[in-house]
Amino acid sequence: MNVLFLAHTEDSGSLGKAACEALGAAKGLGGDLTVGLYGAEVQAAADSIAACGAAKFYGVAGADFATARYGSDAAACEAIAKAANADVIVMPATARASRVAAGVAQRLGAAVDTRLTGLELAGGKVVATRWFYRQRMVGRVERDTKPWLVTVDTGCFEPVCAPGTASVELLSATVSTRTQVTGIKSPAADAQTIRPEAKMLLVAGAGWGKSQPDGMKHLDEASSLILGLLNATQCSLGSSKSLVDQSGDGGALPFLTHMHQVGQTGSTPRHQKGLATCCHGEEPHVVGWRFITERRAVNLDASCGWAQGKADVLYVADAFAVVHKVVELLK
Ligand SMILES: Cc1cc2nc3c(=O)[nH]c(=O)nc-3n(C[C@H](O)[C@H](O)[C@H](O)COP(=O)(O)OP(=O)(O)OC[C@H]3O[C@@H](n4cnc5c(N)ncnc54)[C@H](O)[C@@H]3O)c2cc1C
Repeated sequence: MNVLFLAHTEDSGSLGKAACEALGAAKGLGGDLTVGLYGAEVQAAADSIAACGAAKFYGVAGADFATARYGSDAAACEAIAKAANADVIVMPATARASRVAAGVAQRLGAAVDTRLTGLELAGGKVVATRWFYRQRMVGRVERDTKPWLVTVDTGCFEPVCAPGTASVELLSATVSTRTQVTGIKSPAADAQTIRPEAKMLLVAGAGWGKSQPDGMKHLDEASSLILGLLNATQCSLGSSKSLVDQSGDGGALPFLTHMHQVGQTGSTPRHQKGLATCCHGEEPHVVGWRFITERRAVNLDASCGWAQGKADVLYVADAFAVVHKVVELLK
């Protein structure tokens, strides 16, 4: 079985963590491995995985492939995939790769499955695992179509780092697109509060916006405490449905959007640790914590949902006071 690991390089010329994990997934299949890389430059990235066991390294490089653009990325992937003639093509589920995966599969006449969480060889067949219906059902998928192009989710495979010196065969890819990348506009680093790579998730619940024991709401203080803890720990920010609904209506905390909502109708992030603050811990929220390994919560109510076996540790305390003290200690 021929397996192609296919990934783009980062702006720095290196391979990102998601790509190194996708290489781990490709290697885990145990077939004849080929590496394909595309980007402004590919040699440094190839060198960082030179000793991964691949028999062949292909690359498509140049200014045309420096930034994400459907026309050029798809052309690069197509050229590499055709040269490699693989049975299985494994890509990382980054935004850049996900954008072209289905189109590249169409060009190759391949089957495509995205955001896999497992990939293994079982009984001589490649078997993929992925979730359906917002992590309610796990499915195992086999395909007879060749090639089979898959993207794999982050946090599911061991990343491969195998430095050395790789000999890369550069291929040419014909770019026929009218799209010009004129620049990138992105939010300021401190405005980006959803950080999938962070070790810890901080959840802010509706309690932050409720009247406190003095009978008053303290929204400004809540904002600065939450953002202060985020800055001090560089953790990722999540929220409950109640709080994002209020924030969306122009009240509560303006930096929260529905993208922050964790739960049944929100996201299911993957972080090693989670700390819920001013959040009741109701089931529709806590199902979003499925992949959070170590769970703690701060709540004034000793019989809140977190106390019902949903957290490892519940601090029955005022989150305003706790977060204030924690930020002070971290400083
Ligand atoms: C079909 C369906 C889907 C849903 N999907 C989701 C979902 O995806 N995500 C989600 O979050 N919810 C979801 N919900 C809603 C969910 O059931 C809860 O209503 C919601 O999670 C409650 O949010 P909360 O815990 O922040 O607010 P509340 O229930 O109002 O809890 C606030 C908590 O803050 C505590 N508190 C107040 N002040 C302090 C303080 N100073 N210090 C410490 N603690 C304090 C209070 O004791 C209280 O426990 C869904 C509901 C339904 C019916």
